[in-house]
Amino acid sequence: MVKWARLRLSWLSAYEGSNPSSRINMKKLSKTEAKEKIEDFFKKIKNKSPKEVRKIKKLAMAYNIPLKIKRKLFCKKCLNPFFGNEKTRIKNGIKSIICEKCSYINRWKISN
Ligand SMILES: [Zn+2]
Repeated sequence: MVKWARLRLSWLSAYEGSNPSSRINMKKLSKTEAKEKIEDFFKKIKNKSPKEVRKIKKLAMAYNIPLKIKRKLFCKKCLNPFFGNEKTRIKNGIKSIICEKCSYINRWKISN
């Protein structure tokens, strides 16, 4: 959490230069920076809260960045990140992961 805030501040000050304390607005990021932020976030997804997942999803949407495979790292319904010990099943080319928190069955088509 602290790290995140600090990261955002450093971005902000790089962008706003003179007054980093003014309006915290993620829209000041360039698309590349937003992408980097998202990549970074998903590297540490297991320590994140659903609230933060929602935030990063919003960011991705705002910048039109497809999450692709990263969407499979958290529950579609409650946004809790998966830890890898959830029940997983593969049937007819569909992979299902049952969320431990809300018991929602997340399903994805397996490509090829
Ligand atoms: Zn869930």
